[in-house]
Amino acid sequence: MLTEDEVEKLHRAGELVREGLEYALNHVKPGMSVLELCAKIEQNITSKGGFPAFPVNVSINDVAAHYTAEPHDKLVIPEKGIIKVDVGAHVDGYIADGAVSVVLGEEYAGLALASLEALKKVGELMRSGVRLGYLGKVVEKTIVARGFRPIENLSGHKIERYNLHAGKTVPNVSSLLSGKALEGEVYAVEPFATNGVGIVVEGGESHIFRVTSMKKLKNRDLQTLLRDLWLTYRGLPFASRWVYEKWREDGVERLYSLVEMKRIHHYAMLVEAGGGAVAQFEDTFIVGKARATPLIGVVELVK
Ligand code: MN
Ligand code: MN
Repeated sequence: MLTEDEVEKLHRAGELVREGLEYALNHVKPGMSVLELCAKIEQNITSKGGFPAFPVNVSINDVAAHYTAEPHDKLVIPEKGIIKVDVGAHVDGYIADGAVSVVLGEEYAGLALASLEALKKVGELMRSGVRLGYLGKVVEKTIVARGFRPIENLSGHKIERYNLHAGKTVPNVSSLLSGKALEGEVYAVEPFATNGVGIVVEGGESHIFRVTSMKKLKNRDLQTLLRDLWLTYRGLPFASRWVYEKWREDGVERLYSLVEMKRIHHYAMLVEAGGGAVAQFEDTFIVGKARATPLIGVVELVK
């Protein structure tokens, strides 16, 4: 079970994510720099005593997830499309994870609504003892009823301290998964809807990294950076942008060497396999006996 202090930290993290998503909803416009969008939201989190739990993800149209601006990124928000902004914040390792889809051009409004409605329904059903596979069925039915497909190989996830993906998942399709949500557990729920085939595949570079092995290296410069990255991000994902700001050009070069030496994982961008547009809304919940408490309040935020 969570202590009062832990619950308080989770809520503070949730508030920082909420501010980031609110900023995205109010400011994402055609022509806006993706680099500035990421930096603004991350700076707000750190200025208020939190830390980003991962780099702000800005995923456009058929990119479902895993893109953050690289150093000097020139990418801008397009005239039309569906823009997923996914924000994570932590306070002392207690993580909130949330996302909204910003619709530019009416043609994606229905798609966004399908994902939002699925999140709302799961939020109402989430409680101690609920079967996670059943929540997946609800997501699937809700999205299919609106004429779209859920993305079957992306899912929500249990969260623990400094651990974004702590084993149990909340699927986005009907599943025989027998696991149940239990009181005091924390879950991110993120229904993805698409007008494509309903599967994501790996695309280009995400510019998002994570330390996956601390096995010692002979090269002293590389060993030093590996240790610093581990101590700084505590096993959570980080951006090459952040490495550039702290360790400059040299650091980024070493970062890529560490990827080659399999000490660091470079995530791939996740792209819809049929080239379909993708919508995502996400909130993080503390599971209670009779209901769940959202940390961010995404459903209220987008109303
Ligand atoms: Mn997320
Ligand atoms: Mn998530």
